[in-house]
Amino acid sequence: MKYVASIDQGTTSTRCIIFDKKGNIVSVGQKEHEQIYPKPGWVEHNSEEIWKNTLEVIAKARISKNIKLEDIAACGITNQRETAVVWNKLTGKAYYNAIVWQDTRVGETVNALTKSHGSQFFQDRTGLPLATYFSGLKIKWILDNVAGVREDAEKGEAIFGNMDTFLMWHLTGGTKGGLHITDVTNASRTQLMNLETVQWDAELAAIMNIPLQMLPKIEPSSKVYGHIQSETMQGVPLAGILGDQQAALVGQTCYQPGEAKNTYGTGCFMLMNTGTEIVPSKAGLLTTVAYQFENQPVHYALEGSVAIAGALVQWLRDNMGMIEKSTDVEALAKTVEDNGGAYFVPAFSGLYAPYWKSSARGVIAGLTRYVNKGHIARAVLEATAYQTRDVLEAMEKDSGIEVSSLRVDGGMVVNELLMQFQSDMLKVPVIRPKMIETTALGAAYAAGLAVGFWANLDDLLQNWGKDKTWKPKMKAAERKKLYTGWKKAIKRSFDWEK
Ligand code: ADP
Repeated sequence: MKYVASIDQGTTSTRCIIFDKKGNIVSVGQKEHEQIYPKPGWVEHNSEEIWKNTLEVIAKARISKNIKLEDIAACGITNQRETAVVWNKLTGKAYYNAIVWQDTRVGETVNALTKSHGSQFFQDRTGLPLATYFSGLKIKWILDNVAGVREDAEKGEAIFGNMDTFLMWHLTGGTKGGLHITDVTNASRTQLMNLETVQWDAELAAIMNIPLQMLPKIEPSSKVYGHIQSETMQGVPLAGILGDQQAALVGQTCYQPGEAKNTYGTGCFMLMNTGTEIVPSKAGLLTTVAYQFENQPVHYALEGSVAIAGALVQWLRDNMGMIEKSTDVEALAKTVEDNGGAYFVPAFSGLYAPYWKSSARGVIAGLTRYVNKGHIARAVLEATAYQTRDVLEAMEKDSGIEVSSLRVDGGMVVNELLMQFQSDMLKVPVIRPKMIETTALGAAYAAGLAVGFWANLDDLLQNWGKDKTWKPKMKAAERKKLYTGWKKAIKRSFDWEK
């Protein structure tokens, strides 16, 4: 067998990527899906559309390079985390659109539960502060607001899944006995899993009024779970599941405690492997599951999640029409020398790490008549770099480890201006590997390990190689001035919705 396939169900698109043993891309199928914004703060996806796209991209990836089924050793799934869908297991129909991780509709429930139980109560058990971000309250919203779902859930007919579970169920037969499972990393993002036992926490489910029988079985991240029934890849073992950010950690081969990566996509997510130790955060990070390979202990991570990074570039393109393509932002930013005093805090979904302020909203600060489109483009890119610095400082505080360089990946790391500015702002080298599709690669690694396509982690470590390194060049005074400006701007975004 020559290949391993990976299905990457992301926030903006679904991809199927086929990798060879060296971790090189052999073939890709990709399709975007609709972003549905019914009200300010609400973000939804049509799960039926995503399922159809999944079959289409698998077919595309196979057909475009004429890849035979017999040559695919296994398939892994990685997915946008926290996005929640509830469907009927007898009909296969979803009761409501998938509620996307960025959606803030449960803000009031967050406030109410913070008053009654305190955010710390949830953080102690799940590693996650109470926030609109996670799946649990999204499930509760569907149960409370869509007619008939609660009755069906109590009967065991309405079941929940994040996108990994939803695709796994469909791929393994759907209404004809599809598997209802998830992996430890995805489960750790629901705010319903106890981080120590890695099992569903009945008390938390009761507080959110969620029937336990609608939750999937929790499995390791790498294991032969079952076989694909769909024609496009029939018979191939499904052998890996990882939430997208954990998949990127695995794809970047960060297997030692203290190793970290930062992924720049729709949002921006820094994860540091903390080994088998659960490190509670005091500085505003999440404690989460990194991965669990079959018959191995659970590995944990500290995570700094930033909701809006590349999505701000999309906003500049789609909502403002200032650029035609995301890549144009670099040329526009290069028309000026600096940010002209402007700062853009993209708190569109509130602020995540390390602030956790659901009621923050976006601001552009420091405007004068001097500021033009170029300065705004710069402020857009700089926002990602400042948010990363906020997170990295929190990471160093929590872990006690000084980060000496940063491995990066994701769609934004082709942006050279951003990478240089990032290195300047962090005062450490920023390293881009040859393979930046680390999310899909990580899920392929998990699947390939389970079937013996790769023998062990050493095989994977050999596949990693550097492409480019950016070193800090900025003067200390300039770095300080810019970051002080950011800190002032961010304070102005707080409590907007209160
Ligand atoms: P996801 O996996 O979250 O869907 P990707 O890793 O595919 O995201 O990255 C896509 C994001 O990167 C988009 O938000 C897009 O606006 C942004 N992006 C793509 N190219 C550039 C670029 N050259 N400069 C800045 N941002 C970019």
